[in-house]
Amino acid sequence: MGSDATAIFDAEAAQTMMKELRAVYGSGATKSYDWRVSQLSQLLKLIEYHEDDIAAALRSDLSKPDIESYVYEIGVLKSSIKLALKELRKWMSPEKVKTSLISFPSSAKIVPEPLGIVLIISAWNYPFLLSLDPLVGAIAAGNAAVLKPSEISPVSSALIAKLVREYMDSSTIRVVEGAVAETSVLLEQKWDKICYTGNAVVGRIVMAAAAKHLTPVLLELGGKCPAVVDLNINLQVACRRIIMGKWGSNNGQTCVSPDYIITTKANAPKLIDALKTELEKFYGKNMLESNDLSRIVNSNHFARLIKLLDEDKVSGKVVYGGKRDESILKIMPTILLDVPRNSLIMKEEIFGPLLPILTVDRLEDSFNIINSGTKPLAAYLFTNDKRFREHFVTEVSAGGLVVNDTTIHLGVLTLPFGGVGDSGMGSYHGKFSFDAFSHKKAVLYRGFVADADIRYPPYTRKKLRLLQALLGGSFLTIILALFGRN
Ligand code: NAD
Repeated sequence: MGSDATAIFDAEAAQTMMKELRAVYGSGATKSYDWRVSQLSQLLKLIEYHEDDIAAALRSDLSKPDIESYVYEIGVLKSSIKLALKELRKWMSPEKVKTSLISFPSSAKIVPEPLGIVLIISAWNYPFLLSLDPLVGAIAAGNAAVLKPSEISPVSSALIAKLVREYMDSSTIRVVEGAVAETSVLLEQKWDKICYTGNAVVGRIVMAAAAKHLTPVLLELGGKCPAVVDLNINLQVACRRIIMGKWGSNNGQTCVSPDYIITTKANAPKLIDALKTELEKFYGKNMLESNDLSRIVNSNHFARLIKLLDEDKVSGKVVYGGKRDESILKIMPTILLDVPRNSLIMKEEIFGPLLPILTVDRLEDSFNIINSGTKPLAAYLFTNDKRFREHFVTEVSAGGLVVNDTTIHLGVLTLPFGGVGDSGMGSYHGKFSFDAFSHKKAVLYRGFVADADIRYPPYTRKKLRLLQALLGGSFLTIILALFGRN
């Protein structure tokens, strides 16, 4: 059960764990403001006291550069916890809402309540962020939680298990380490919400398992995120921002990395030149040796990417890069031009350092390309044309859009983060995380005065008219109905 690395996590262990968690959750322990603040504060300490250990784990699992670990995992997590601590009272407060004539006199509130015991299954590419950031929302909303980090980043998974054990309330927050077998056992249990981050194939398995218990799901999936590049922009700035979203974000192993670019035929050569120039400024000429680029996570993913790159109809389309070194699991930043739309690299999410550029005659044609595929988690547009920008915002359906940059919407905690269609369902970050793990309970308060006969039998025509007028909401009709004039 995470607390003992040698213990087998089987159905019996899962049932025992659930029983223990249900008992503590049932006692109301997690509902108080104090418990939530204490656990969020402990989570902040867990991160602040172990920034170096976290960076070391990420270096070991992914050769992730320390700056990336700090910015995308440690830094984002700290902001997220600090925001929850600052806003918690407000988030927890019931929201007073108006009532209608039909319940007059009355008052009403929306009262957020925790869902219960939530399961958080996370992916390997941002192991700390994707496990602990949903946990911030789960705790803030007053839930007990079980984390299942990814086995593909084993050093990070072990560190998460160790630190959660050391810092968090173990009667309500647990970590279960493991792979498919352990996750399957977890998925057989009855949860009050499951938050899953990973690919859509497993997303379907998670949703099917949740359906058996009518458990709601938050699915954070991926997909092919397009970046559309217009003419007449500051190409240098655009390329720097594309590079940071692609190779500067875990070497493209990021759900919101630009997966492919669309530009016009005329613009493509300039764009490729600018990308090459900026790439070499950032990573030097020998990019396979750069310490500023993460490696591919393991040999399976390395082989998967090489298969995309070496497909017959694709290998001749490389205009930059293509070098690889399996012994260090590195592939050079690689740009491809006009790969066929039916190639594997255009059919699958790339999730690595390969960047195809598709060309079109008119940039408006990019909408067809994007909308003919599944809905992406993010879509990017580089343009100075306001009309085209608004057209893009209206026409392109994606989890999120960014104009003139990539990926940084994730750091804006006032924006919900999540997918649509095949890229996922539900969202979190900031207040949206609290909402994702809360039920909004509708509460109506009434007294015993003004108990009008109108709703009670015997039913009469006058009562019907009056009810129709009340439901219609027009003051004049109500008066007329009262006097039997309508
Ligand atoms: P992964 O291999 O780490 O798997 C994710 C989790 O699913 C792990 O905890 C794993 O143990 C579990 N799992 C794997 N197979 C399972 C099975 N058969 N049954 C039950 N559980 C199983 O991660 P991945 O899927 O390679 O992650 C990459 C994908 O995730 C990409 O599509 C990426 O775009 C997406 N992603 C999305 C986000 C987001 O926030 N939306 C973030 C990161 C990654």
